[in-house]
Amino acid sequence: ARRSLAGGISSPARLTSTGPHPYPLYLREGSGARVRDVDGNEYIDHLISYGCAVLGHASPLLAGALAPLLTTGTMFGTCTTEEVELAERIEAMVPCAELVRFANSGSEAVQGAVRAARGFTGRSLVLKFEGHYHGWSDTLAVSNRPTPEQAGPAAAPRSVPHSPGIPPGVVDDVVVCPWNDPDALRTVLAAHRGRLAAVICEPIVANNACTMPAPGCLELLRELCTAYGVPLIFDEVCTGFRTGPGGAQGLYQVVPDLAVFAKALGGGVPIAAFAGRRALMEPLAEGRVKHGGTYNASPLCATAALTTLRALADPATTGWMEEAGRRIMAAVRRAAHDRGVPCAVQGVGAMFQVVFTPDGAPTRNYRELLAADRGRYDVFRHELLRRGVHVNAYGAACWFVAAAVTEDEVAATCAAVDGAFAA
Ligand code: PMP
Repeated sequence: ARRSLAGGISSPARLTSTGPHPYPLYLREGSGARVRDVDGNEYIDHLISYGCAVLGHASPLLAGALAPLLTTGTMFGTCTTEEVELAERIEAMVPCAELVRFANSGSEAVQGAVRAARGFTGRSLVLKFEGHYHGWSDTLAVSNRPTPEQAGPAAAPRSVPHSPGIPPGVVDDVVVCPWNDPDALRTVLAAHRGRLAAVICEPIVANNACTMPAPGCLELLRELCTAYGVPLIFDEVCTGFRTGPGGAQGLYQVVPDLAVFAKALGGGVPIAAFAGRRALMEPLAEGRVKHGGTYNASPLCATAALTTLRALADPATTGWMEEAGRRIMAAVRRAAHDRGVPCAVQGVGAMFQVVFTPDGAPTRNYRELLAADRGRYDVFRHELLRRGVHVNAYGAACWFVAAAVTEDEVAATCAAVDGAFAA
């Protein structure tokens, strides 16, 4: 019965990019973990702008830091102190970060990291994993969500399924491997010995419904990449500074050669970074490998990132996100158990997803996600929306918890979860 502007607006691109809501949701204002739509309906928000508004919407910290810049000017094109300070902070927080470069989006920063690896190795082939998403470049967008026929398990390396609109031949420099599958990994690495420029993965697969790494999987990946002399890239666009101050590499104590950051880094302002071992990054510093971008770490965005990272460097901040998310995860498990609904709640507190797998077991790879009941997820999140809780519309992506979420909002989310399952 809720009205929406959408009836009078023809905006297919926008609707596609915001996902299949029961009605298009036009949000007008937000504060902390709350958002209000154009009709005045209020929601507790566990999408937080696809994970970007990690401190919460309209963060007073960010407002206080950014407002003065709008009157003093935000000059760039020369060296800026903000950029240097931000690089130093990232180096202090992230285990693999000896040198840092900046970009404007996760997709661009992924390209920067891949280029650094290609420049370092002199090779072009990249190994990625099914269901892992690394942005919208022609090369790495492929095979993000292969069809059931295209998905693994793969006994041997396969060519890459092309995304619609990408001509064959453009993406021949990528091979794809099933995730959490040591045998397939060994096979693919051996088959491409001496040809791989990089192996790239999402350490927690936010874009495969927060699939967790199987025990020992990241360690094996690290070991094999070292043995084969292939740079390992962690795409920490979702996990970075969120699953703890050191991201996934801090959480799992597995250190890649390069890592990519965006989303939480800017607290909602567009900024991204890639960082890594000195040997791989130095060619960029020396200009032997090129990386540019007019807006990279512009003072406005770098200040937003510095302010956000100062907050996230405090373990109490990420600790509360973890605790708040764990309470919601527990509520989903309890509600599902009480009603006898098979359901996996997977991820960590700060980012997780609810997946209606046939037997309630967590997914290990893309193929298992394909077997989950997406329709049921859709019903679930519609029922949540009705109860004033806004979550990701895509069952394949995940929920994000803002540091600003309050005890009351967590409790209200848990109650809405119970009501949604009852309905
Ligand atoms: N890598 C991962 C893991 C992501 O989740 C995303 C975005 N969802 C990207 C890369 C691309 O980032 P952007 O949308 O900022 O280009």
